[in-house]
Amino acid sequence: MSKPSTLAEARVVLCSACLLGEACRFDGRDKRSQSVLDAIAGKEVVPICPEVAGGLGVPRAPCSMQGGDGVAVLDGKAQVMTADGRSATEAYLRGATLAVEAARRFGATLAILKDKSPSCGCRSVWIGTALSPGAGVTAAALAREGVSVISSDELEARPK
Ligand code: SF4
Repeated sequence: MSKPSTLAEARVVLCSACLLGEACRFDGRDKRSQSVLDAIAGKEVVPICPEVAGGLGVPRAPCSMQGGDGVAVLDGKAQVMTADGRSATEAYLRGATLAVEAARRFGATLAILKDKSPSCGCRSVWIGTALSPGAGVTAAALAREGVSVISSDELEARPK
């Protein structure tokens, strides 16, 4: 298990790949964030897109959680579903496992993740049709591993 760290302390940072400019989102776009790029300058960065790592393609069907957030999915008490009612839970769990393995392998003590995603959401996720407080599956798995998880929205909101 990692020792949690602040952004200033972290030497190795896991980061949602879409925030770095990779066009890996469900809609085939990226979410490049200059605030994130500035925050990780000079650090070792481990990019990860848990949904692509878990076997989902680009573009892919958007998903939401049913029955709870990522913590509940990890505990087998909730599912990740496509809008047309297919379970994508296995792929989300696989992606979370690979993200945790990457954090372990490279010694990442902090992750900067894209909020509201069923994988990377840190503070809020879509549960059914409601944006609700909670974590995505990967964010929950990393936090369980002891990795500090912060939302890119938090960095973007900081005064420049
Ligand atoms: S799973 Fe995470 S890294 Fe991949 S596109 Fe969604 S928010 Fe970005």
